[in-house]
Amino acid sequence: MEFCPRCGMRFILTRKRGGEGITYVMSCSKCGYEKPVEKTSLTLVKIVGPSPRESIAIIDREAKELRTLPTVRMECPRCKNNLAYVWQVQTRGSDESSTQFFRCTKCGYTYREYS
Ligand SMILES: [Zn+2]
Ligand SMILES: [Zn+2]
Repeated sequence: MEFCPRCGMRFILTRKRGGEGITYVMSCSKCGYEKPVEKTSLTLVKIVGPSPRESIAIIDREAKELRTLPTVRMECPRCKNNLAYVWQVQTRGSDESSTQFFRCTKCGYTYREYS
């Protein structure tokens, strides 16, 4: 987990559309500080959408434990917290499909993305 060097808030993974296409940055929700994400350490998993709440998910290859999982902006159905850990589980018997799971960073409620 990474924190903003300026104000200490936890970074949130966000997607940016720029001249070189779509890039990902770690951004601070408090002061707006941004830090580029190393592409080599990430696996682009899935872009869910199109919807007003288009969400992205990136799984860190090294992420084995929940506390090391990346976070995304997702509204918790239970407590309305808007930050959740994200990971993906391969569906058994299928090479293609997999399911995204989210876990609320606040109350721990775990839920899945229905696409
Ligand atoms: Zn900050
Ligand atoms: Zn929650």
